Amino acid sequence: MRSFRNTYQRRTILRAGAGLTCAPLLAGLAGCSQEPATGENGGSVAAAPVARTPELLPIESLRDGVSIIANAPGNVLVLETGEGRLLVDSGAPDMATSVKLTLGDAPVTRLINTHYHADQSGGNALFGDAGAVIHAHEITRQWLSADYYIPSEDRWVSALPEIGRPTHTFREKEVLELGDESIEIGYLLEAHTRGDAYILLRNANVLAVGDVASPLRDPSLDWYAGGWLGGRVDAMDDLLEVANDDTLIVPAYGPVMTMADYRAEREMMWHLWDRCSKLVNSGRSAQDILDAGVMDEIDRKFDDPYKFCYDAAKGLWAHYTNFGGNVV
Ligand SMILES: [Zn+2]
Repeated sequence: MRSFRNTYQRRTILRAGAGLTCAPLLAGLAGCSQEPATGENGGSVAAAPVARTPELLPIESLRDGVSIIANAPGNVLVLETGEGRLLVDSGAPDMATSVKLTLGDAPVTRLINTHYHADQSGGNALFGDAGAVIHAHEITRQWLSADYYIPSEDRWVSALPEIGRPTHTFREKEVLELGDESIEIGYLLEAHTRGDAYILLRNANVLAVGDVASPLRDPSLDWYAGGWLGGRVDAMDDLLEVANDDTLIVPAYGPVMTMADYRAEREMMWHLWDRCSKLVNSGRSAQDILDAGVMDEIDRKFDDPYKFCYDAAKGLWAHYTNFGGNVV
């Protein structure tokens, strides 16, 4: 514990200045699901998403004025504000028309992206074109405004058209007052990408965290875009300060989490951080982490434990100065 607190302090110090000057010179590993898109920069360019016939998606009421559309392919949070609808994330490119169909006729006036991945921002252009004001962290706006490369898939993803890019950005935190709701948008440094945001609906006590919590899919660390295990644990701890025992946590994928669910995942991520950082600090590889049985020490079975170890090791190498110095 003592060594962790020392490490924690180093990383906490880092956060004060990190992320403020980063431009998307390099971007996007498939941290979570990356929908194919056209590209113009060479390499293997995937085909455009196949257009789907719009279909009604499952929608679940959470609390007064708050509901969730599922299977887009992840979750889209919907808030009725009295001044139009607010969405948190907009679904994948080929699901956007289904999200719109499910919402019905009431206009979407605000859209907040939790991060840049295409399965959270694929409907931006559709809703932006219909008049929605789009909010995101400044770094997420930068990712969405430039073509980016996905190394694990050897392909490029094109920038969003201008109409789909965030126009209202923040660095640390901002608060929107819409109707009866107070909406806090805050930064989560390097938790999954480099531009992650949480969105707290203060009165409804619902907290959207994007891919910073992952009860269904393997937790993903988009190391190429700056996400890493230390950032993940720090961010999950920060969210414990934002939430309380009655808060409902909405992840990008999977069921709504209670605080007990969330704390259990945080403990799992802390264990993975503790074990992986020590092994990488002593020169061990992703395969070594797997061979050491680390993934058998947690309650969950990951679909692809090697990929998690690989991404964790890459992120730790990228941040090795944050957790103690020399790798031996
Ligand atoms: Zn993601």
